[in-house]
Amino acid sequence: MSERSSAGFHPKCPYSECSVNSKTPDGVSPSPGIGRIVRNGYYRRSSDSKRVSRFLCLTCERTFSSSRLTPCFGQKKRRLNDPIRKLYCSGVSKRRIARLLRINRKTVPRKLLFLGEQANHYLKQTIADLQASGTKLDAIQFDELESFEHSKCLQEFL
Ligand SMILES: [Zn+2]
Repeated sequence: MSERSSAGFHPKCPYSECSVNSKTPDGVSPSPGIGRIVRNGYYRRSSDSKRVSRFLCLTCERTFSSSRLTPCFGQKKRRLNDPIRKLYCSGVSKRRIARLLRINRKTVPRKLLFLGEQANHYLKQTIADLQASGTKLDAIQFDELESFEHSKCLQEFL
């Protein structure tokens, strides 16, 4: 999805030094990131050939891009995140993932650290959403653990 087509995208100044992000002595930011921000061209990202918009904060006169606001900011191989996640969740080993995607072996565990953080964030967000909706959680069952242990015993039936 192109960032140009996202009509509801309202960039906020990401710099903590900017006066719109300054906090009062109470530790509360009166208008976090909300200031006058204008478009400031774009650039073509080399890692995935995507057109990324640049913005200018008129308060602190610094520029930033829309990719700064994403968790993948600064990654040079962001197009590998999804294939690595799918392959690893399918039980493919790290070495084989590296060989299949023709990347360095060390890249895979680095990406898995990032993907783990993302999964953890998603899990916390999901639990927070469930609690906000009033759903009570007593226990979480991981089905995969149980079925994996049973798979050796069930082989004679398959
Ligand atoms: Zn600013």
